Amino acid sequence: MGTDEEALRLRKLQQYNLLDTPREDAFDRITRLVTAVLNVPIAAVTLVDRDRQWFKSEYGLNLAETPREQSFCAHAMLGQEPMVVRDAVLDPRFASNPLVRGRPDIRFYVGVPLRAADGTPLGALCGIDTRPRDIEQRELDILGDLANLTMEQLELRLLATRDGLTGALRRIPFLACAGRDLALAQGQGNPLACLMIDADNFKTINDEWGHAIGDEVLVRLVAAIRSELRPADTLGRFGGEEFCVFLPDTGLAGALQLAERVRRAVAAIRLPLADGEVGVTASIGAAEIEPADTTPGDLIQRADAALYDAKNLGRNRVAA
Ligand code: GH3
Ligand code: MG
Ligand code: MG
Repeated sequence: MGTDEEALRLRKLQQYNLLDTPREDAFDRITRLVTAVLNVPIAAVTLVDRDRQWFKSEYGLNLAETPREQSFCAHAMLGQEPMVVRDAVLDPRFASNPLVRGRPDIRFYVGVPLRAADGTPLGALCGIDTRPRDIEQRELDILGDLANLTMEQLELRLLATRDGLTGALRRIPFLACAGRDLALAQGQGNPLACLMIDADNFKTINDEWGHAIGDEVLVRLVAAIRSELRPADTLGRFGGEEFCVFLPDTGLAGALQLAERVRRAVAAIRLPLADGEVGVTASIGAAEIEPADTTPGDLIQRADAALYDAKNLGRNRVAA
């Protein structure tokens, strides 16, 4: 995978909001089934992060994670077919792997890729034995079904992170992403900016045209915001007609430029109707991080204060 591809893969993985979350029965049931069906002592649902493999569920491993370079699943996730290693000692890719040379003494490995709907590899569902062995097609088929079940669980969680109308992140998953952006920016000394975007006089749009048209306008508004964002930017729906954007590697000047482009894109929206057309404008507050910021809320509060100014200055404008 190229660097860009890997960056997008990690972004996608983060969107599922799974890494470092607590154990869940739904996944533990699946790993238990893998050990029972294959008659192996070890099974795992593995997610491959930047530098580590992290186990959403593991049976018989008693590890939370291992370095990525030791990961069998990091290989397995890249294939189209299940990866089978009959005896790791005889496989040049794994013979000197610490997980083979020492505990848990991996010999046999089978892993089925876990891929997002768009094909992005996230990790693998695997079964492991401490003795060399073979695997039958029938067993591979069952493991494939269990991998699909695992993916269905992951997709449900992804769906739950997004608002049904606009597809923007809901508040809590958004704050989780924003928290990661903030920690990364503070850790690396990079800039980070935030925009608070609120539709102007939206109540009037609802009153004049009805709630369904209001919904349609919100969808168009989010599309207009999105059209100006980069893949690394995060968009969340905060209130009914209020949205928050986190912009990594962006200072206040860049954020103000982007905000102005968003403002114009929103003001250009025309929703054609049988008896006329609807337009909408938005007010935008911008802010950038300060060294003392410890939570995304610190930054959001300043963007929110700027939004308040933009409203008071007459709406359809950007303020910092
Ligand atoms: P301001 O310019 O000060 O922001 O005025 P406003 O009318 O936009 O602000 P206010 O907060 O008074 O009203 C927001 C309105 O947005 C009220 C609510 O009915 C509407 N709204 C919130 N969520 C939705 C939604 O999902 N769909 C629709 N159609 N309307 C919504
Ligand atoms: Mg409003
Ligand atoms: Mg509002």
